[in-house]
Parts: sequence; C-alpha cells; structure tokens
Amino acid sequence: MIYEYHIRTEEEGFYNITPRVREALSKSGLKNGAALVYCPHTTAGMTINENADPDVVSDLLFALKKTFPDRPEFRHAEGNTTAHLKALATGSSVTVPVENGALTLGMWQGIYFCEYDGPRSRTFYVKLLSE
Ligand code: ZN
Repeated sequence: MIYEYHIRTEEEGFYNITPRVREALSKSGLKNGAALVYCPHTTAGMTINENADPDVVSDLLFALKKTFPDRPEFRHAEGNTTAHLKALATGSSVTVPVENGALTLGMWQGIYFCEYDGPRSRTFYVKLLSE
C-alpha cells in the first residue's frame, strides 16, 4: 500500500511528519514489515532525528548552511545548488521497521521532511511493506 501526502512548506525547515506516517500505518492495518517514507524532490530530503529539543533542528539547519555555502563557481542556472547539496546530504528516504503495528522509532526520534528550497508545495509517500 502506498499513501500520498502533501505539505506546504516555508523557506527552509524540517517538518515532523511522524504523525502522518503513523496515520498511514494505522490505515493500512500492517502489523509487521516496514514503512518506507520517500521524498520525490531534488531540493528536499527525508531524515530521522531528534524530536524533543527544537534547538537540534535549528542547529542542523545552521550547520548545513555553513557546510554548503553558495559558491560563485556553481553553474546550475536555477541558482539553488546549495539546496541540491543539502538534499544529497540527508537523502531521499528513510525506512523504519514496523513491529506489532507500531513504528520502531526511538523515544527521541522523529521523521522529518527537510525543505531546502521553499516555500513550495511538496509531496511525500509512505509505502508500507509487509514482511
Ligand atoms: Zn535546481
């Protein structure tokens, strides 16, 4: 089963989509397998990170900005190469094992849609895989 979700993002930020993944899992009735959460964009990504202290996300965004500064040597005409690089760093999908109908996330983990080139209308998919 695959579930499609849409989000409207602001400029740059991490969006906690864990409730939507749990919703898809609940709708599916899957008991054991995995949830594949996929971002079909080249200037946005998907990751798992801390969901307790919002300063962590803020620090991650700050560090990504410092790690991938805009460079005059970049040739991409759209002018958003830094967003492509940040997407490269976080990747396009995460996979979380499902056991007894629940995501096996750690207590402090959340699933984040990572926007690097907003504001935009974005899509992500949750594919539930049976074992
Ligand atoms: Zn581009």
